[in-house]
Amino acid sequence: MRTRRSALTLIAGAASLALTLTACGQDSDGGSKASTGDSKGGTIGIAMPTKSSERWIADGKNVVANLKSKGYKTSLVYGEDDPDQQVNQIENLITQGVKGLIIAAIDNKSLNNVLQQAADAKIPVISYDRLILGTKNVDYYASFDNTKVGELQANYIVEKLGLASGKGPFNIELFAGSNDDNNTRYFFNGAMSVLQPYIDSKKLVVKSGQTKLTQVTTLRWDGTTAQHRMEDVLTSSYKSGRVDAVLSPYDGISIGILAALKSDGYGSSSKPLPVVTGQDAELASVKSIIAGEQTQTVYKDTRQLAKVASTMVDDVLKGKKPEVNDTKTYDNGTKVVPSYLLQPVSVDKSNYTKELVDTGYYKASELN
Ligand code: BGC
Repeated sequence: MRTRRSALTLIAGAASLALTLTACGQDSDGGSKASTGDSKGGTIGIAMPTKSSERWIADGKNVVANLKSKGYKTSLVYGEDDPDQQVNQIENLITQGVKGLIIAAIDNKSLNNVLQQAADAKIPVISYDRLILGTKNVDYYASFDNTKVGELQANYIVEKLGLASGKGPFNIELFAGSNDDNNTRYFFNGAMSVLQPYIDSKKLVVKSGQTKLTQVTTLRWDGTTAQHRMEDVLTSSYKSGRVDAVLSPYDGISIGILAALKSDGYGSSSKPLPVVTGQDAELASVKSIIAGEQTQTVYKDTRQLAKVASTMVDDVLKGKKPEVNDTKTYDNGTKVVPSYLLQPVSVDKSNYTKELVDTGYYKASELN
């Protein structure tokens, strides 16, 4: 972790560092290299978590396009799921002299020091989709209703299994996201608010016994990690009986879970796949839904999210108060961060055309 002194040294060396970064080929808008340039609005730094998931690639592109249309330059970086790398990247953006920061954190608790540097340099910070915790130096939060994401996944399971009309008991296994992502507990708690009554009444049985969030998280949302856990659960708890549903918080995790299930013989008419949820409407998962493997996903229109976050940073820089629609839910441990929350939508085979194709999120040809 950098000390305050090294931060100052870095700021003093801003000009030469900016040159070095440019030479290193950091991503920036329109293929041109990042610079502190004197375009109308200056440069906005955008720190995204990883290119290993499509959604974040789309988020990056959409934020860049929105900011460009507002007259800004952009410097877009991806931390490849490495919290230290992300901290270094944000430090570099600060030393480049960015006017604002839009950050989707990898580890929501690792940004305290670097965001103090941002505050010292009077750089506003928008927390993008994932709330940054434990610092007052985050100005606004743009995200979706994350509790609702979990509720949509769980309600889908309830509906598909016919639990509300008294069917059951069924076996379910639970998966959650990365423990260093604040959204994880919102998704999980949202889902469990729906599932817990059925678990209590034994209409849903978690044969692995793994029902606590700490038992079911998946570090960095990694699909292979989830695949291995599903394999272990199948081996240890399903010598008899079958899995009827899997709560999966994210499409990449769903793909891993499905791989484990298929290698255990699920997916035939005598052993059909369980209901498997997901999130993000990633291309591979939408194709899997169409093919009858993954059952559901939660679509979050990242085009809208990018627009909200870009407008927030623009408003702050112009001295305007950004529009928010929630000032209560997202307490980051230091303050309640004023938020704008968008609505997620449950998508399955029955409505993917309406939600994903008719809205232009995907072209019909991409889904073939
Ligand atoms: C996002 C989800 C995404 C997950 C994994 C979460 O913070 O809200 O949309 O599935 O990260 O990338």
